[in-house]
Amino acid sequence: MKDILYLVIPCYNEEEVLQETAGRLLEKINNMIERQLISCKSKILFVNDGSKDKTWSIIQDLHERNNTISGINLSRNRGHQNALLAGLMTAKEYSDMTISLDADLQDDINVIGKFVEQYYNGSDIVYGVRSSRETDTFFKKVTALTFYKLMRTLGVDMVYNHADYRLMSKRALEGLSEYKEVNLFLRGMVPLIGYKYSIVEYERHERFAGESKYPLKKMVAFALDGITSLSIKPIRIIAGIGFAIFIIGGAALLYSLIVNFMGRTVTGWTSLTLSIWMLGGIQLLSLGVIGEYIGKIYNETKRRPRFIISDKLTDTDKNDK
Ligand code: UDP
Ligand code: MG
Repeated sequence: MKDILYLVIPCYNEEEVLQETAGRLLEKINNMIERQLISCKSKILFVNDGSKDKTWSIIQDLHERNNTISGINLSRNRGHQNALLAGLMTAKEYSDMTISLDADLQDDINVIGKFVEQYYNGSDIVYGVRSSRETDTFFKKVTALTFYKLMRTLGVDMVYNHADYRLMSKRALEGLSEYKEVNLFLRGMVPLIGYKYSIVEYERHERFAGESKYPLKKMVAFALDGITSLSIKPIRIIAGIGFAIFIIGGAALLYSLIVNFMGRTVTGWTSLTLSIWMLGGIQLLSLGVIGEYIGKIYNETKRRPRFIISDKLTDTDKNDK
C-alpha cells in the first residue's frame, strides 16, 4: 500500500484559475495513483481564504463532481501563510505527506513526482527551489535577492530561492504544529524543524490567469515580518549603534572640555544641528524597530487563533480515511 499524498492549495479570489488548476492537478494525481506511486486515497485540498468572488462555490462544485477534491473554508481572509497552515494542519490528519503549492500553478507540477520520490528515499521535507528567475520582473529579482541576502546576514537559515512549494511528511507537520507562534513565516520556520531534507529544482512559470495577490505593499510587510519573526539581530544592531555613539559622545565631551579650558570656544552651530538631527533620527528609527518587536510580543501573548475553519468538505459517507 502506497502512502497518501495531499496537495494543499491556498486560494484567494482565484475563480479565474481554479477550474484549470483542478483539472491539471487531478490529471497529475490520477496518473500517479495509476502508476502506484501514491495511495488512491490521495487528494487535492483547496483552502478558501475568505475570497470575495466565487472561489468557494467553485470548490464545492468541484468536490461534488469528484471526490479526489476536497476543501476547507476559512471564516475570513487571513493571508497566504495562515491559509496554508490551516490546509496543512487539516491535511496532517488524513495524509502521510503533503505538498503545498499556489493556485495559479506558477510552480511546475511536473516535479511532484520527484518530490514524492525524495520522500520515499527518506526525506521528511523536500524544498522546491527555483532554478531561474527569468519570468520575474527586474524589480522582483533585485528585491528578492536582497531579501535572501539580508536574511542570511541576520542569521536566519532559509533555503535560497525557495518559496512555499514543498513536500512535508506527516511527522514534519507534527513538528510544525508544535510551533505555536501567531506571526507566521513558514519558509523560515520549516528549516527549524530539522529532519532529513532534500532539494528539487524547478522552473517557475508565469501566472496563467488573474493577478498576483502580493502587491508591493504586502511583499514588503511580508519581508519585514520574516525578519522580525525570526531574528533579533536588528535590536542588537541598534544596541551596537548606541554603544558607538556613546563612545563618540565621550570623545566629543573630552574635546569640548579641552577646547573650553583653552579658551577657544567656537560657535559650533554646524556640529550642534548635525548631532541633533542625526541623534534624533537614529533614536526614532531605533524606537520604531523596538516597537515592531513589542508589537510582535503583543500579538503573540494574545494567543489568538491562527485560523478558524467554517466549513469542511469531507467524504465520510464514502468511507475515506
Ligand atoms: N493567497 C491566499 N491569501 C491571500 C493572498 C494570496 O491564500 O491573502 C494565495 C493565492 O490564492 C495563491 C498564493 O496564495 O494561491 C500565492 O499568491 P500569488 O500567486 O498571488 O502570489 P505571487 O505568486 O504573485 O507571489
Ligand atoms: Mg503566484
